[in-house]
Amino acid sequence: MKIKIGLGYDIHRLSKGRDLFLGGVKIPHPSGLIGHSDGDCLVHALIDALLGAVGEVDIGRLFPDTDPAYKGIRSTVLLRKVMSRLRRRRMEVLNADVVVVAQAPRLAPYIEVMKDTVCPILGVSRDRLGIKAKTNEGLGLIGRERAMACWAVVLVEEKAGKKA
Ligand code: MG
Repeated sequence: MKIKIGLGYDIHRLSKGRDLFLGGVKIPHPSGLIGHSDGDCLVHALIDALLGAVGEVDIGRLFPDTDPAYKGIRSTVLLRKVMSRLRRRRMEVLNADVVVVAQAPRLAPYIEVMKDTVCPILGVSRDRLGIKAKTNEGLGLIGRERAMACWAVVLVEEKAGKKA
């Protein structure tokens, strides 16, 4: 049994009038994350953690922001693509843990629906995905609601047998 760990980090600036997506969930808020995709920094951090665990290139090189194919794309679509790559290599997610740092809105009411959205894509039960939301105590650009950031770690396991 081969187990590998991956770490991901992402930060996106906020802009008034944009839809806010976090953990694959649209959250009512006056501002949203700027990005070539939907700006979902939680899913982006998870993607980079998964790619890191299997020693692949990062999200920016896999889905370049110069490629019109990814303009406005939901990040959950990108996460599905990454999971297919992992499955082709017979890699399965054991568990993942995420910290999202956002001064506002309060994210606690959305954590469960984020898990409902992300767990099926990762192919894990709800007890294998942790999502914690923190404010930045009003400090810095995140504290002033100019940006949101996210960290993610994952463990993946290579299943026995031939690679597809
Ligand atoms: Mg990003």
